[in-house]
Amino acid sequence: MSANSVEVAYRGVRQTSLAKRISRGIVQSARKEGKLGFTFGRYGDSPERVGIPARQFAVIGSSETELQPFMTPYELDNNDVTVVLDDTLCRGTESWAWHGFQPVNRLTRPGGVLLVLSKMSPGELLGFIAQKGAEYNLAVVEGAANWSTLWKYNDDSDFRILGAIARVAPHLISLGSVEQVIVQDWKRGDKIDLARQSYDQVKVRPVGAGEGVKQALPVRSFPKLQEMKEALVVPAVPAGEPVAGGPYRAERNPNYRSHSARTNRPVVDFARCTRCSLCWLQCPDGAFNITPDGFYDIDFEYCNGCGICVAVCPVKGCMTMVPELQSLSPFDNGESRGISELSPFDKGGLRGI
Ligand code: SF4
Ligand code: SF4
Repeated sequence: MSANSVEVAYRGVRQTSLAKRISRGIVQSARKEGKLGFTFGRYGDSPERVGIPARQFAVIGSSETELQPFMTPYELDNNDVTVVLDDTLCRGTESWAWHGFQPVNRLTRPGGVLLVLSKMSPGELLGFIAQKGAEYNLAVVEGAANWSTLWKYNDDSDFRILGAIARVAPHLISLGSVEQVIVQDWKRGDKIDLARQSYDQVKVRPVGAGEGVKQALPVRSFPKLQEMKEALVVPAVPAGEPVAGGPYRAERNPNYRSHSARTNRPVVDFARCTRCSLCWLQCPDGAFNITPDGFYDIDFEYCNGCGICVAVCPVKGCMTMVPELQSLSPFDNGESRGISELSPFDKGGLRGI
């Protein structure tokens, strides 16, 4: 027999405590059944960056010999369950150390389970998830990404995720052992119903090989080792240039895009915009383009969803943050709609959706 593993995909820093608690809870539950286990975070994710996709792993087996091959890889493939703590990760993930773009189900084993915390149905979520060349199951636990684990832990998703894992992967942990951990080890008997509810209510949809979208996020290539120049060369970001008609258009480093860090996105109502420029000035990622009409339009390849522009906009109702997935059509890749593609007044004056 070989050991089994669970992968937890989460947003760096904001969900680290939650991901660790779930991984630890899996191993603690398995130990109640006489198994062994350990957890680890992916090496390249540390030190973590806020919002950037990261991964934790939990491995369980019946002997140390079984566990040993799982102790050294950079990340584990063929996971029995991939837990996703923010459904915007379903579009794909890029780590800050740029291990490469990964479809969210890439490390899920054939026949395994992709278990997502989401308010969407499995069918809706599948409109964002990349195709996989093997069958697997898509399971949904109702809930939304929660940032309240950042400084003071205040989330209950861990109880619900553990209950759901017991349902979709009973060969890993049972509901009984999860309940024991919650009561005996975590001293949270008041939360046991949450695990039971999600055990009963988790929605599961079988996914056939090739189902899903072709590719949710663009794949970029980086130089191979043999293609790199001698010595350390950091190319400068090219200078920007005026757009025809006057305003300045900033250039950006094409290798540093922050779109996969986003859970929410800003939307501008151009009908209310006074062109005060505060959003453009305050955006930490330089994500705004100035349109020929003097409006400030967001390039979503560079927007990390921090919400600063919304906070500084002085006009009530002009900028709002909306959930990333709910603002996209399932087959929209969410990338930049450059100023050449749309005028500020199309779609009734709303941009960014
Ligand atoms: S949310 Fe606003 S301020 Fe933050 S990166 Fe995006 S455009 Fe810039
Ligand atoms: S801060 Fe608001 S009003 Fe000012 S330019 Fe930006 S969107 Fe327009």
